Amino acid sequence: MSFTIKILGAGSATPLKGRHHSAQLVSINEHIYLIDCGEGTQYRLIEEKININKIEVIFISHLHGDHYYGLVGLISTMSLLGRKSSIQVFGPAGLNDIITLNFKISNTVLAFDLFIHELNSLEKQNIYQDNYASFYTFPLKHGIQAFGYIAEEKPGLLKLVKEKVSDLTVDEMVILKNGNNVVDQGNIKFAVNNYTYPPEPARRYAYCSDTVYDENIVPYIEGADLLYHEATYLEEHKVKALRNNHATAGEAATMAQKANVKKLVIGHLSSRYEDFLAHLNEAKAIFENTVPAIEGKTITI
Ligand SMILES: [Zn+2]
Ligand SMILES: [Zn+2]
Repeated sequence: MSFTIKILGAGSATPLKGRHHSAQLVSINEHIYLIDCGEGTQYRLIEEKININKIEVIFISHLHGDHYYGLVGLISTMSLLGRKSSIQVFGPAGLNDIITLNFKISNTVLAFDLFIHELNSLEKQNIYQDNYASFYTFPLKHGIQAFGYIAEEKPGLLKLVKEKVSDLTVDEMVILKNGNNVVDQGNIKFAVNNYTYPPEPARRYAYCSDTVYDENIVPYIEGADLLYHEATYLEEHKVKALRNNHATAGEAATMAQKANVKKLVIGHLSSRYEDFLAHLNEAKAIFENTVPAIEGKTITI
């Protein structure tokens, strides 16, 4: 099953040429989910040749404009393009008022059902699942209500013991892979425990933007295959980072190390920094497997 992250935007509050506001596509087995929807996200989707109406669910981290100003426009366009299937949006309290007021005043009637779920979680909580993925939320610390998200693939089917496959018919294989015994006239013909072994562990992606360095987050993201953590500042500007409720590259790397994740992506750089060089040096000194959130880049988990 494929599991990728596409970075659409990874800039911070002040946009720059080539550095857009936050938005990422999570794709699991060709099903796509959007995390954050900063201004211009629909243009970024067009540039990346993504069919806007393939987005199934949207998760908004917090209500600073750089993470959601693109949402009203994106939903309007979905309707103009003839979307019929409903869409679910998860985000902080206030999101429903914002969206509803916009559509009310502009007299917009959507061609599909829009379900807005306002979050209030004080700990990790499962908020959404379908046949391919489960999404969890957890609180971040950012001065206003803010949420991180975890995307987890659904565990795969059991694997058959290779040496025993020749004993089985195709139908029997399907039964065993789904975790059931093969039964013949009330007797167990092939016991699932003898013919299968567990699937690979489900892969997980953790998204932490925006937040100060907060070790309370560690248990929520423990062991993730990939962690995106904001790194708005460098350690030399740590006082400013704390004052603005943001983290440094060094702190993002320390989180990755403490949570024992496999790989770290850093982004949301302040517009004061021209490129990722100093951030990467700072992070890699603590957590070597760090990569930059380059817009347009797809990261495979
Ligand atoms: Zn932000
Ligand atoms: Zn923010």
